[in-house]
This record gives sequence, C-alpha cells and structure tokens, in this order.
Amino acid sequence: MMKIKLKATKLPDWTVIVCVGCSDFLERPLMAAVGVAEGEEIFICPHCLAEGDIDAKLERKAARLEREPRWLRALIGRLELPPPAVFKEFFGPEVVEEVAEFWASLRDLLDESELLPSYDADQSVVSLLRAYRRAWPLIKSDAEVDPERGKALAAALAKWRMFTGG
Ligand SMILES: [Zn+2]
Repeated sequence: MMKIKLKATKLPDWTVIVCVGCSDFLERPLMAAVGVAEGEEIFICPHCLAEGDIDAKLERKAARLEREPRWLRALIGRLELPPPAVFKEFFGPEVVEEVAEFWASLRDLLDESELLPSYDADQSVVSLLRAYRRAWPLIKSDAEVDPERGKALAAALAKWRMFTGG
C-alpha cells in the first residue's frame, strides 16, 4: 500500500480547512498536516494530530457516511406529507403583501425587457426572483392557478436559466 505523506504546515492567517479526520470546519487553524490523496488536498487539524489514532477516526467517519444513504433510501415511498397548500397557513400577511409586490414588479420588468431587451433588464428580473425567494412557495402556487402569472413566471425563469446556466 502506497503511503501518503502529510507535512506539518504553517497556514496563512485567513485559511479555512476541513479536517478529514473529524470533519470539523476550522477557521485560521494556523497549522495543519497537509498532503495530497487521490489528487485531492487533505488536511488533518491540530486537534486530531494531538489526539492521534487517525485510522480509527477515518473508520468512524466512513461508517457514518455509509449510514446516511441507507437512511435516506429507507424513507423512499414511506413519507406521508401534508397537502402542499398547507404552507399558506404559515405565511403571515406581510409575506402575502410581498407576493403582490413581486407580481407587480415582475410585470413591470417583463414589459420593460420586452420593449428594450437588455442585459440590465434581464438581470433585474433575475435579482427580483432572488429577492423574493422566501415567498417562493406562494409565488409558485399563484402561478399554478393564474395562467397570466404562470406565463410571466415562466418568462422570468427562462431569463434565470439564461443567467445561471441552470
Ligand atoms: Zn480534526
């Protein structure tokens, strides 16, 4: 078995590492053992270095990671969810107001970007979608019941995809 040599390394002050032993996310650890395994940089934090027995830590972490997909798969086909409309009861009137604002702004922006197609106008639509993310479930359900809004949202999402490549 080929060994992987890690070197004690002083790290710049702004460094953030994820320790492969404990999975801790460490800001400014000052030093770590650093190496390359299978083409990826790996770090062992000072805490794990001091504790030793890194193999046991790796084994525990691997076992934990293996449990997760099993657990997720065991849920498939078994979750009984409340009806989608239930979320509406949980949004306060201020969010409902926000949603009305969203539709008004979206209409304006879409009109504008149709009159004078431009990068800026498209970007404003994308920013609008981002800004109202918290109201997204309500926006989506509005779009489902109102064809006008459905069309507007589809146009906005097309711009979104153009920008994010998603
Ligand atoms: Zn660690």
